[in-house]
Amino acid sequence: MEKDFTYIKFPEGTNKVYLDDFCYELDRNTDSLTISFEGYFSSFPERLAPCTIYIFGLGGVSILKMVAMLKSILLLFLLILEIILGRNSSLSSTLLFFMSLAFGIISSYISEIKNYYNISKCDKCGRDFAFKEIKEPLIKMVSTYDKFEKTITRYMKCIYCNNEEIKTEIEYELSKSKSKKISKNRRNCKECGKKLALAEYRHPDVNMEYRTVRTIKHYKCISCGYMEISIKYNYIPNSAD
Ligand SMILES: [Zn+2]
Ligand SMILES: [Zn+2]
Repeated sequence: MEKDFTYIKFPEGTNKVYLDDFCYELDRNTDSLTISFEGYFSSFPERLAPCTIYIFGLGGVSILKMVAMLKSILLLFLLILEIILGRNSSLSSTLLFFMSLAFGIISSYISEIKNYYNISKCDKCGRDFAFKEIKEPLIKMVSTYDKFEKTITRYMKCIYCNNEEIKTEIEYELSKSKSKKISKNRRNCKECGKKLALAEYRHPDVNMEYRTVRTIKHYKCISCGYMEISIKYNYIPNSAD
């Protein structure tokens, strides 16, 4: 696994830092951290979604998704059962695994189609698959003591009536970073120089996205107003890499 550290420093009086196209913002009253950056244009299933919805209808697509998901779970259950019972038919275990995986992928793809249908419908002219993104989306991650939330704000325009809309969607919400007892394991403050004053005051935010594990650690100086966060990315290599 490759490792890569980034340190973001907030001396007293500084609450906002721009670094490598990312904006880091601290609220010193609530200790919440906001990281915002420009994402890439979304890769919506633009070709398959209209014909899938046309053939099966929205209700039919929902049923298909449910059936695919249940089949995936059932096959996984059968696979676990076969492993527990210890039968040595490795071919059927492999087959069960790949069939479960295939139905899982189909189910998540149908979810994407449904999501794209909902996002791209124009409220003004009522046409389906009408909205296109006109600029890169804004991605925002907010870490508080209660939750870690990632939202995507998309800037859309209707290709039929030119209606412009901003659509915000919560991609995920987790509860992780509670406050932490200040341990004796402290470092020297990089700002005031006081020894063993820089303490980790919250549990780290650890999230996995695609093949990357992101760990955000939160530090503050117990003597001056200096605060710091460190971000570490662990890239999990594919077996094919
Ligand atoms: Zn429209
Ligand atoms: Zn200090």
